[in-house]
Amino acid sequence: MLLFNSACTNQVADEPNKADRIKLVSDDGKPYIGFVLDTLKEERWYKDKALFEEKVVQMGGQVKTLAANGLDDIQIKQAELLIQEGADVLVVVPHNAEISGKIVEMAHKAGVKVISYDRLIKNSKVDYYISFDNEKVGELQASEVVKKVSKGNFAYIGGAESDNNAVLFREGAMKVIQPLIDKGDIKIVYDQYTDEWKPETAQENMQSALQQNSNQIDAVIAANDGTAGGVINALSSAGLSGNIPVSGQDAELMGVKRIVEGTQTMTVYKPITLLAEKVAEVAVKAAKGEKVATDRTVNNGEIDVPSILLDPIAVTKNNIKDTVIKDGYLTEEELYKK
Ligand code: BGC
Repeated sequence: MLLFNSACTNQVADEPNKADRIKLVSDDGKPYIGFVLDTLKEERWYKDKALFEEKVVQMGGQVKTLAANGLDDIQIKQAELLIQEGADVLVVVPHNAEISGKIVEMAHKAGVKVISYDRLIKNSKVDYYISFDNEKVGELQASEVVKKVSKGNFAYIGGAESDNNAVLFREGAMKVIQPLIDKGDIKIVYDQYTDEWKPETAQENMQSALQQNSNQIDAVIAANDGTAGGVINALSSAGLSGNIPVSGQDAELMGVKRIVEGTQTMTVYKPITLLAEKVAEVAVKAAKGEKVATDRTVNNGEIDVPSILLDPIAVTKNNIKDTVIKDGYLTEEELYKK
């Protein structure tokens, strides 16, 4: 049965107060986890949502997911709502690494723990950070591109700068590229983050990169499959797709299809099942006040956040079967169907 408490509703606009919170869920004996997603735009987040919800329920918890469509104000309101509804733990994929610190503050005032999911909430006292090794993601992207072309003009088409991951992907890639820049083999002729991770923006940026360099671009490091799609459209308009290595990330169906057809060089497969299940486990434990084991800390500008970082996997034409297909992340049927 759902309970509504008007006093509580009035209060929440300012700050949810622990004493006023009533669990708006069917069974208030069960741990209640609120999942606050930035977006459901990229294919992966549907997987995160489904797998996370399934695991929380399997562990005897209850879960509600809200997605903010890339809007900070909405994300903060959604977190407020879940706190008001009596969430024991909030799991947050922040839209903006800095602004989302407000969610942590608000949650802590109400005695609610916060787990940073996939993306780090910076400059806050966030309780846990569970993700993949995002610097390694960038390293894998650059390494696979450099295996194809290790000299010439490179373009870097990044993610959204407001997302800490985008910064880490770039740092990881630059670690691999820098020695080749120093040797004079590689020149970065275009280097641009992509506002909101929008494929259309990545496409426009890639068009500018081509124009500014009279089409003399030899390789592109794109931060995910969405931006890679934009890059490849731009290359295709210039008659260049398939000739220039392009990286990606997420093992999206379209990304892996492009690897099969030869227009994209690689993607980074992050086994979302492992992430979603690990976070669900930590969330339910934290909700019960149990101790949580982590394996390292990551500094977020304010504290060393207890963290767990999982391993990303590079996928090229050579190992599609042994990775994404083997794990059932994508099926052979959907991948090879025309
Ligand atoms: C995630 C990527 C995703 C991107 C855009 C990043 O924070 O780690 O997997 O492609 O956001 O949603």
